[in-house]
Amino acid sequence: MSTNEPRLSVSLTFDFDAMSVWIGSHASNNPAQISRGEFGAVAVPRILSLLEKHDITTTFFVPGHTALAYPGLIRDIRDRGHELGHHGWVHENPALFDLDGEREVFRRGLQALEDVAGVQPRGYRSPSVDFSPNTIDILLENGIAYDSSCSGSDFTPYYLRQGDKWPNDAPYVFGRSIDIVEVPFYWGLSDFAHFEFVSGFTVAQNTTSAVREIWQGEFDYAYENCPGGMYTVALHPQSIGRGHRLVMLEELIEHMAAQEGVVFEPMGVYADRWRAANPLEQWLATNPIHAAPAESRV
Ligand SMILES: [Zn+2]
Repeated sequence: MSTNEPRLSVSLTFDFDAMSVWIGSHASNNPAQISRGEFGAVAVPRILSLLEKHDITTTFFVPGHTALAYPGLIRDIRDRGHELGHHGWVHENPALFDLDGEREVFRRGLQALEDVAGVQPRGYRSPSVDFSPNTIDILLENGIAYDSSCSGSDFTPYYLRQGDKWPNDAPYVFGRSIDIVEVPFYWGLSDFAHFEFVSGFTVAQNTTSAVREIWQGEFDYAYENCPGGMYTVALHPQSIGRGHRLVMLEELIEHMAAQEGVVFEPMGVYADRWRAANPLEQWLATNPIHAAPAESRV
């Protein structure tokens, strides 16, 4: 870590799913349930004001379906200096498609962000952080520079691998490391699992004090133990946008901002800097745990 690097970076990522999460992930045909996503569009202006108040820019992962539903909000997010990342087409699970089908929904998501905001996203978070065995191939085909769906680390990024295999009757096969930076995701640092009632999925609706204990505890650990790392939370406007939760988020922002050397930034800015400081071949030479052991690299 050089002296001019932040001690810890923070990216308050927002997955602006709107209605898509109910239509895609939950296969809902229930207008009342789908309307829960509309609240996300109500919450986005509140969130943008909060970010502006604290002079924070960050990353919004947006399904193409949301971009087409709320083009004005998407352009407002862009115009305020935030990064737009790819988050699927209609929040579908990529594993439900064959290779060509997954390519097509990925393309649709890209096309919508291009049409609405003139943006070619460099970052990806898969809907519900689900991958198919083909997803990494598709990210490479589309020039995606970084991903934030996997959980192989906590605050220190790593390079993804292509071609892993997991037979039931033989050892795990590590594929080759590729030039896509993984900025790790953790369900414990996502609002949805803590706060949302979804029958058969999660029924938590925890208090903000309990969730803040987890989120701040993770931040404090990262600050002390993972210099040069990134602390990220995965927030959803339709969930974090409830009044008492935004109050908690602001208190957390104030706690983090008060620590020396903490920088709030879009995930892509951080990923570019990490890649420049840790080029793939140089990183591999340090025998990181996320690379295949040298003797078994394919
Ligand atoms: Zn999502």
